[in-house]
Amino acid sequence: MNVGIIGYQGDVVEHLELLEKLNKDYKREVNVVLVRNVRTLSIVDGLIIPGGESTTIYRLIKEFGLFDPIRTMAGQGIPIMGTCAGLVLISKDNPMERVRTLDLIDVSVRRNGYGRQGESFYENIDVDEIGSFDAVFIRAPIIERVGKVTVLARYNGSPVMVKEGNILGITFHPELTGDSRIHEMFLDMIGMGGSISIGKREFPMVEYV
Ligand code: GLN
Repeated sequence: MNVGIIGYQGDVVEHLELLEKLNKDYKREVNVVLVRNVRTLSIVDGLIIPGGESTTIYRLIKEFGLFDPIRTMAGQGIPIMGTCAGLVLISKDNPMERVRTLDLIDVSVRRNGYGRQGESFYENIDVDEIGSFDAVFIRAPIIERVGKVTVLARYNGSPVMVKEGNILGITFHPELTGDSRIHEMFLDMIGMGGSISIGKREFPMVEYV
């Protein structure tokens, strides 16, 4: 399967390395695609929007014409995982902000909800269907409102991992600790959606190429 990572800024290499580790250690057949234009977006079976700077990633997504195509893909059922800044971007709204969010998952977030860089921390949390997981929070957003989502993990009572259909949102960084279980969960979402690699299905985005 082709798994895309929005590849402008942020934790791009970290997600890539973890997916490659899954290929090596667990014999998953993931072809990682760095997505920076509509052509590469059009061949992915699943998409990761990494952590980094949400304003920067938003501007580049818009500049390179990916904003509407990502929304179209999500509507077609292609799994999308947003981590940290990526969650800010996929959220329904983020009231204080200069970014227009993609509105793919029914949560409202507050950027840098735990404070600035110096307030970054990691904590062991309990994730549904996975169990204990070391979660790294770096200027993480706080999810302030949840709508029709399933909450998969909480920290201090507040949701930190949420799922709505084919969309997974995470306030922390699952790509930083070498623990690949959340990425595996995401690959399973892609597998269950029945979407398989290029050549075996129609390009959903062909009109944008
Ligand atoms: N606070 C950052 C932002 O919203 C996100 C930080 C991160 O992704 N680690 O841009």
